[in-house]
Amino acid sequence: MTTFSLDPGPDQIAVRDWLHGFAADVIRPAAAEWDEREETPWPIIQEAAKLGIYSLDFYAQQFFDPSGVGIPIAMEELFWGDAGIGLAITGTTLAAVAVLANGTDEQIGTWAPQMFGTPEDVKVAAFCSSEPDAGSDVSALRTRAVYDQAKDEWVINGTKTWATNGGIAHVHVVVATVDPELGSRGQASFIVPPGTPGLSQGQKFKKHGIRASHTAEVVLDGVRVPGHCLLGGKEKLDARLARAREGTRGGGKNAAMATFEASRPAVGAQAIGIARAAYEVALDYAKTRVQFGKPIIENQGVAFQLADMKTRIDAARLLVWRASWMAVNNQPFTSAEGSMSKLYAGETAKFVTAQAMQILGGNGFTREYPVERMHRDSAIYTVFEGTSEIQRLVIARAISGAPIR
Ligand SMILES: Cc1cc2nc3c(=O)[nH]c(=O)nc-3n(C[C@H](O)[C@H](O)[C@H](O)COP(=O)(O)OP(=O)(O)OC[C@H]3O[C@@H](n4cnc5c(N)ncnc54)[C@H](O)[C@@H]3O)c2cc1C
Repeated sequence: MTTFSLDPGPDQIAVRDWLHGFAADVIRPAAAEWDEREETPWPIIQEAAKLGIYSLDFYAQQFFDPSGVGIPIAMEELFWGDAGIGLAITGTTLAAVAVLANGTDEQIGTWAPQMFGTPEDVKVAAFCSSEPDAGSDVSALRTRAVYDQAKDEWVINGTKTWATNGGIAHVHVVVATVDPELGSRGQASFIVPPGTPGLSQGQKFKKHGIRASHTAEVVLDGVRVPGHCLLGGKEKLDARLARAREGTRGGGKNAAMATFEASRPAVGAQAIGIARAAYEVALDYAKTRVQFGKPIIENQGVAFQLADMKTRIDAARLLVWRASWMAVNNQPFTSAEGSMSKLYAGETAKFVTAQAMQILGGNGFTREYPVERMHRDSAIYTVFEGTSEIQRLVIARAISGAPIR
């Protein structure tokens, strides 16, 4: 009897093929247009919703898939289609994961479905952690949440930045500090329900890549949310704060970090989708482009580049699948394997897309071919969800136990 397999089962293969069809037929043909428009591709999100690809049920099914590879397979296929549209379709899941990781069953049941809306009336959600002075250093968050006991409400003030879907979201999840002296241990996550006064969109960013995905500042000016919008509930927060004040370890899980931990391999899988797409374009091109009387792939110099690209893509996928398998089997991430997978996949996407541009020569530099867009899109994968340097920091600390800074 074999106890080890890297073969996705029939369920995973069926999902992969279904999503690949959607990515090839709907996403890829629309990619250049939405990249130029720099707008959220609502019609495509709607189409995905009608097919059940943009829905809580679909992501929950993949999230709880016992093989662990449901989410990575889904992400890779959608982002193979296009990363900007892929993020427009999947950006909501970052907020949904925050609720799944930190919320009570009741909060999950109330808010997660609202984040997606319905196929007739699709909605998106936003996870707002980063701030102008708190990017990699999440402990420096200044957005403040103060409890108003008389009204059982939280009052939130601050400015968030870089929020995917920020300001256009139906539901925003906001990370704020309730006790600044405790750093990241004094933070909590809050739901800001639709239409709450005081929340507004600030600047919408014009970006280098993933331009179909909306990224903006979110301003919170005297935002009041009911007590039940504190994810996890007040009792749990008070107990956690008391432990932090006593300096006791354990249970002091940082709200933003918990979300990032759960989502890193999935983000790595997105990067793999981009890399695979660029590799395939480059491989086809190298087989058909003739110079010096032969296809350029017959030069070792070109063929070896493609060999390295494919090897790195497969290695990155193995790291992502391992981390996802570990997560579903509750294996401890003793060497920060989730961070490893995101680090390697992100760096691979940048490497592979740059090589693909080189193989396409002048054509690679134009918008007639998709690889320059893929290269622009890949650049975010060494930045968001923790930069490559921060992933290395996390891995280095995990493997050494040393207080590396
Ligand atoms: C398109 C886009 C979408 C995003 N979506 C979201 C979102 O939905 N929600 C959200 O909350 N945030 C989001 N972010 C924010 C993203 O997570 C941050 O940009 C990222 O964490 C880096 O923070 P920063 O930009 O402030 O860079 P900084 O933290 O200022 O880093 C600048 C440079 O310094 C390096 N550096 C910093 N500290 C160290 C150190 N200790 N050791 C070595 N090097 C270091 C970094 O690696 C980086 O190279 C998004 C960002 C972008 C660009």
